[in-house]
Amino acid sequence: MTRSLRVAVVGSGPSGIYAADSLTSQTDIPIAVDVIDKLPVPYGLVRYGVAPDHLSIRSVRNTLEKVLDRPEVRFLGNVEVGRDVSIDQMRQFYDAIVLTYGAASDRRLGIPGEDLFGSIAATDLVNWYCGHPTADRAAIEAALANVQSVAVIGVGNVAVDVTRVLLKEPSELDYTDMPQHVLDALAASDITQVYLIGRRGPAQATFTTKELRELGELEAVDVVVDPVDVVLDPVSAAAAEGDRAISRNVEVVREWSQRESGAKAKKLHVRFYGKPIDIVGDDRVESIIIERTALDENGNAVGTGGTETIPVQLVIRSVGYRGLPLEGVPFDTDRAVVPNDEGRVVANGSPVPGLYVAGWIKRGPSGIIGTNKKDASATVASLLADADVLPEAPDASVDAVTTWLAEHGVEAITYAGWQAIDAAEMALGATRGRDRTTIHDTDQLIALATS
Ligand code: NAP
Repeated sequence: MTRSLRVAVVGSGPSGIYAADSLTSQTDIPIAVDVIDKLPVPYGLVRYGVAPDHLSIRSVRNTLEKVLDRPEVRFLGNVEVGRDVSIDQMRQFYDAIVLTYGAASDRRLGIPGEDLFGSIAATDLVNWYCGHPTADRAAIEAALANVQSVAVIGVGNVAVDVTRVLLKEPSELDYTDMPQHVLDALAASDITQVYLIGRRGPAQATFTTKELRELGELEAVDVVVDPVDVVLDPVSAAAAEGDRAISRNVEVVREWSQRESGAKAKKLHVRFYGKPIDIVGDDRVESIIIERTALDENGNAVGTGGTETIPVQLVIRSVGYRGLPLEGVPFDTDRAVVPNDEGRVVANGSPVPGLYVAGWIKRGPSGIIGTNKKDASATVASLLADADVLPEAPDASVDAVTTWLAEHGVEAITYAGWQAIDAAEMALGATRGRDRTTIHDTDQLIALATS
């Protein structure tokens, strides 16, 4: 091929931008990359997943920005692959496509009452407090109103994030880039009791110690743990002994279980060995029934029959994200990922020429942001190894795709458009003494980017 390879990366979260980074930081093969996102803004979960009070993790956007700033990389926001343009159509313009569109949905509990008013997915709450343009603001704010007690189901880092955000004092969130309506709703909240509930023990929890510790340091919150929950069975004790991360988690929870009862205004009850079996209420959530569990020989939670009813008005299901299929792309419905072999998308046992996958939609929703760097470069290594046999795009001029999109009524937002949004968010934040305030409204974002 005499021209540069043209590669589309679908999704501008960390995996997508790390893929663009790997594609353009090598010098053997000239490559031009379009990073396409359905939102008008880049950065995916760095913007809409990482908790707004975790500034140091969020600052990874400064690294990602440097990749979007490269001359060989172009950002095309506000373009939804599968709706505005199909994968088949994209093959007209690109020699290869790397799917990094993440896991936008949530896993279900599969228990009665899951759809009652007052039972929400953590992903929806996170979207709301991060100012995601598609967050259902009215539904979340209605669910939060008049709530004193909350059950958060799951003991991963997302559960820890939502617990912390709900229990923090307004002064502990004031510096964040959360939209003002979010800060106002959280400041008006009546929540004083949060139950963080794991179906297995502290040795099986997936939170990380640093994040866990923060829960014990909140200004207005006493943490309550039943010492019985820190008595480890032999398998858990062996797991803790052989793994520093597990033993540190157990130690944090054990220290909490030994604390004197405090007199702070809010209580965080951290519970283990509790499996939700029923969310109860007529018009809205009134309580949740938890069955006591024990671990079987494989470490799975098995119900023991004993139950407890906890009065709560809000249940937040934080049991994991789930990937969604994309039209024209193979999908493994059991694992909710795009089937692949070292990042090459596979259909009926063979690689699909020119189609690759990286990030959560490749391996499932696990790992920290940095995990995606290695994962994306492994996929890019497969793509580069295939460079000579990629199906050549018939219309690979730089403007072909943007012209096609414009002709089909799609207004793609470029990096310059994003920079205008970025500047407006920083200016809005400055009016309130903050570094930034996230603008959540799609029309406003598009207007800023295109004016
Ligand atoms: P996760 O770590 O997979 O945690 C899911 C939790 O849900 C687990 O405790 C799991 O328990 C529980 N669960 C699953 N099905 C359940 C059911 N039917 N009933 C009761 N509990 C159930 O997922 P996540 O918290 O959504 O986080 C996703 C990824 O993002 C993780 O890799 C996480 O570390 C990362 N993340 C990192 C940060 C950070 O670094 N600060 C922040 C947020 C997210 P079992 O183990 O028993 O299945």
